Amino acid sequence: MLETVGEIVRRGANDVWKLGLSEAQIEQFEQFAALIIEWNATRMNLTRLTSPREIAVKHFLDSLALLTVVVLPENSRIIDVGTGPGLPGLALKIVRPDLQVTLLDSTAKKLLFCRAAADALGCADVKTVHGRAEDVAKTPALVGQFDSVVARAVAPLGRLLPWLSPFVRQGGVVIALKGTNVADELAAARPVARRLGLTLAPPISVTLPETEETTVRQIVMARKEARF
Ligand code: SAM
Repeated sequence: MLETVGEIVRRGANDVWKLGLSEAQIEQFEQFAALIIEWNATRMNLTRLTSPREIAVKHFLDSLALLTVVVLPENSRIIDVGTGPGLPGLALKIVRPDLQVTLLDSTAKKLLFCRAAADALGCADVKTVHGRAEDVAKTPALVGQFDSVVARAVAPLGRLLPWLSPFVRQGGVVIALKGTNVADELAAARPVARRLGLTLAPPISVTLPETEETTVRQIVMARKEARF
């Protein structure tokens, strides 16, 4: 019998990672996956991963991996840059409803999906912002307004850090969710980080549960020391 998204998320997030998701949260992930599959099939290209298992593991668990290594303070403000279908931002909001989440993307129709999904999932306080990160990052109302900024599968670190850094307050954290090999990207990004006043930490490896072969993700974090 085919496994449901909920069963896979429950095993990965709760049995392996001990994130303690409630049945209501598991059901939200079921619903989120159903919306992605439906919109992807009928309205717009949101993702090339279309099976429930791929969505559960490679989208949802992959997005939640950061919760196993980063402590996001209660009620903290977080912006997800290049969110696409709401990943990782909306997945994080399901698990941590206290977070004040903003989803940003340069493609307006992806944000249409994010808005509809957030509302359907009972996350109406999620905000959406349309625009290219490098332009929106100059908006005074958003500069330095976030405790953390996160991005997954958007651009190489050297290009990404200047897009992300302006959003975060002094002392805040930039978080990039990366694939297995990050060493070259990281080396290229070091001088960029220095210029931006970001202190890069060594990447943290997280093994993705529910995969046949060991799949390791790298979480790159940098603290913003200075206000520029
Ligand atoms: N983060 C999502 C995920 O992990 O599934 C989406 C990843 S998708 C490969 C990259 C997303 O970044 C797309 O939705 C694209 O529209 C957005 N994007 C690319 N360049 C951008 C930019 N300069 N500013 C804002 N969004 C951008």
